[in-house]
Amino acid sequence: PADDSEANVPRQVRSAIYSWVTPSPTGTEPVTLAASAAVARLAGLDPSEALRPEFALVFSGNAPLPQTRSYSQCYGGHQFGHWAGQLGDGRAICLGQAVNAEGQRWELQLKGAGRTPYSRSADGRAVLRSSIREYIASEAMHAMGVPTTRALSLVATGDEIARDQFYNGNVQLEPGAVVCRVSQSFVRFGSFQLPITRGADEMGLVGLLADYVIKHHYPHLQAGQPNKYASFLTEVAQRTGRLVAEWHRVGFVHGVLNTDNMSILGETIDYGPYGFIERFDPDFTPNTTDLPGRRYCFRQQPEIGQWNLVQLARALIVAGLMTEEEASPALAAYATALTERYDGMMAAKLGLRQYSQEVAGPLLRLMYEDAADYTNTFRSLSSVGVESGGNGAVGGLPAALAEALGPLEEERYAAWREWLDLYRATLAAEGLPAEERAAMQDGANPAIVPRNHVMVGITAEAEAGNYEPLHRYMAALLQPYTATGLDPAWLEPAPKKCRVGVELL
Ligand code: AMP
Ligand code: MG
Ligand code: MG
Repeated sequence: PADDSEANVPRQVRSAIYSWVTPSPTGTEPVTLAASAAVARLAGLDPSEALRPEFALVFSGNAPLPQTRSYSQCYGGHQFGHWAGQLGDGRAICLGQAVNAEGQRWELQLKGAGRTPYSRSADGRAVLRSSIREYIASEAMHAMGVPTTRALSLVATGDEIARDQFYNGNVQLEPGAVVCRVSQSFVRFGSFQLPITRGADEMGLVGLLADYVIKHHYPHLQAGQPNKYASFLTEVAQRTGRLVAEWHRVGFVHGVLNTDNMSILGETIDYGPYGFIERFDPDFTPNTTDLPGRRYCFRQQPEIGQWNLVQLARALIVAGLMTEEEASPALAAYATALTERYDGMMAAKLGLRQYSQEVAGPLLRLMYEDAADYTNTFRSLSSVGVESGGNGAVGGLPAALAEALGPLEEERYAAWREWLDLYRATLAAEGLPAEERAAMQDGANPAIVPRNHVMVGITAEAEAGNYEPLHRYMAALLQPYTATGLDPAWLEPAPKKCRVGVELL
């Protein structure tokens, strides 16, 4: 730690990986709006604890968590490709670790509980709108099987926070909230990067942090390795590669893949202006501050993962933990892991034993040309029969697919029918039993993903004191592969001209 002061005054913090920080109290009586029973159990808590007023006090930062000392991490990062110096947890404060009955340690981190040494000129707070988005995405991604930080709770603080939501000079007061994020580690690539920029006396921190992360999170790498740091980099690269492939499976676009938002555990971290692809466009970015460059758009994510890993490798090399010769095969493990997972997941989405570029490529092209909804189109494919008969629906397409696509011009139906012929021929050649194929597809293609325009409506209701829509939506998102009891409004892609949402500081 930096020192013992627990001061939340923004400053450059030298020779430290973290600083002791205490959450700042909020003004009025905090209220727990949502809590995850599953995450409570992970952290060794009885889910009924969330109903107690003390829970809202602790998880809004108004009362200490007994037997813990809270802290914020110091890290740097490349933002949009440029080195940004010290960043750190500007509004995240770790309360400490919970050890559950299985002996697992989970860090409990408040997001929005006040300023830290890393807040720079910002307020350390989070608004209800962005906290709802983080809470929903964390648990929805986990339910879809995508590695992610979790969310224990969403607590409204009663405070009002000034935000310029669309960066247009229109500052409005919004209700504040605090999410408690949970992960086994919040260490980022940027945690390793900062010390190497600060000269010889901080260089040793890189090895110290690597040893800590290996000991607690990659313990099998301790002994008998030619260079445990190279093995560590290999495994981080593999996890990151698989993560990016999983994002593409569910159509997730992170939006801010700066190196400080890359988890050393290969989890999705920091849900800001993220979005799920609706009308398919590989250039889609939900981040309006990333236009027109689109560095972090959907199609760029695999390449950015590699770029970020190179920055991590550079830090480990500069700190003397490995040579360039050792780093390059470790980095190559990224593309191998990503491709393997990508091919596997795309085969599962299509119901094929073997990934087929000949089937997947033209499908994505058709989806792009017809602005087809990524989630709904893939979800409809399990009901495409191998036989071409029985296509009574519009355009001669199977009913579910026609419904997913919506009305098209006649020549577009012909293009889809042509692809269907190819798809059916491939399915027939593979001969997978129909039920097995459908189960594989319905387990890879979520029926529901968080949609920005739905979350906008839920936020408006929550701001008016009605939390029922939030709870209903969350319950559906926790069963993403079970398409029952879904409100049709949750499945609609955004209106074509809908402005994308941005989460602002
Ligand atoms: P992000 O783009 O969300 O990764 O944030 C970039 C940096 O800004 C991180 O160091 C954050 O901790 C910090 N930050 C973001 N929002 C706030 C805020 N409201 N108050 C203080 N720091 C913030
Ligand atoms: Mg961040
Ligand atoms: Mg953020």
